[in-house]
Amino acid sequence: MIYPIVAYGDPVLKARAKDIPTDLPAAELQKLIADMYETMYYAHGVGLAAPQIGKSVRLFVIDSAPMVEDDEDDNEPAETGIKRVFINPVMVSETGEEWAFEEGCLSIPGVRERVMRCPDIVLRYEDENRQVHEEAFSGMTARVIQHEYDHLEGVLFTDKISGFKKQLIKGKLTRIAKGEAKADYRLRFAGQRGR
Ligand SMILES: [Zn+2]
Repeated sequence: MIYPIVAYGDPVLKARAKDIPTDLPAAELQKLIADMYETMYYAHGVGLAAPQIGKSVRLFVIDSAPMVEDDEDDNEPAETGIKRVFINPVMVSETGEEWAFEEGCLSIPGVRERVMRCPDIVLRYEDENRQVHEEAFSGMTARVIQHEYDHLEGVLFTDKISGFKKQLIKGKLTRIAKGEAKADYRLRFAGQRGR
């Protein structure tokens, strides 16, 4: 099932999401994961966090392959993208010298800004079979994970840019929050009820 994507201005995007309970029926979890992937690919996203479909739980999916392909012309060692689901993730460490990259977000259509992030992370998470992993990620894949992880903490990339830059996009954000935004996928605005 393809969900509409919750747009900027909805309180669910500002809330800290709750852990997915260990006793959640496997079938329910698998359905949620499948819906998350379907919704992400439909919207041509490289990552999607559950709050973005209105569910305040700690789960996100990524497929960083398109981002890594876009980035191929630099001199960095070749990086391959990954497709993966992360359940109840915990950021263990973020290290290295912060680097800038222009990010966007399916919940904030039409806005792109440079965001500083550490290049190396270690994340503890459960996979789709609830097996726990602790794994290091770097570069673009780490950035996609950091962006999605932030969603679970109620943080958006627009919260991480300077006050001056934020002032410049304030009008755009206000219009999105009022429902005046379009995307080639369905958006759900604050105050809209139901699906
Ligand atoms: Zn986002």
